[in-house]
Amino acid sequence: MATRSVIVLAALVITVGAAATAHSGSDRTPPVTVDSSMTRVRALKGSPAPRSRLAELELVTVMYLGFDGRRHRGQIVVRRDLAREVAAIFRDLERLRFPIARVVPVSRYGWSDAASMAANNTSGFNYRRKPGQRGLSLHAFGSAVDINPKQNPYVLGRRSLPPGARHRPGVRGTIVDGPIVRAFTRRGWRWGGHFRGHKDWQHFDKPVRRATPRA
Ligand SMILES: [Zn+2]
Repeated sequence: MATRSVIVLAALVITVGAAATAHSGSDRTPPVTVDSSMTRVRALKGSPAPRSRLAELELVTVMYLGFDGRRHRGQIVVRRDLAREVAAIFRDLERLRFPIARVVPVSRYGWSDAASMAANNTSGFNYRRKPGQRGLSLHAFGSAVDINPKQNPYVLGRRSLPPGARHRPGVRGTIVDGPIVRAFTRRGWRWGGHFRGHKDWQHFDKPVRRATPRA
């Protein structure tokens, strides 16, 4: 049943995306497919995060190349001080013609990371723990981004998330150590493909900056 509801959810998202395809005034400008156009309130609705945490977040509009070869517009929630940087990283990814399935705030998926991953959604903020651990993930701070989970699963031993996903370098939308990773690392982000022990191929993060110590 869980699989079925995920399929229905994915179909709904695709339908909404297709319906939102908007033609601009000029015939020469290719149409943009709108995957997400939420208000900030809607994007954060229902999150169990403390109010002080929510106040630090910004809803960022990003453009990207879809797997359909069209230009898409989506939204991602990150820490306010990372917003400009994240927008610039997505511009780099589009220039590199790296395809991204969709970028939609996780509130659309009821804050379920599993449902978001099943929809192959690229996401940022989600007030949640690290998989199988007690500590909060950097996603809970809006300091992490997961890209194309189906092509870039979290892998620990024989377990992979989303279930059944495999990392296959060479398949479109798959992240390998190269220009895509450098778009992040040259701005001080870490890549989960560089982690030891487990691989989190979809994951990039930038640890929260500490307050400047007093002199
Ligand atoms: Zn992640």
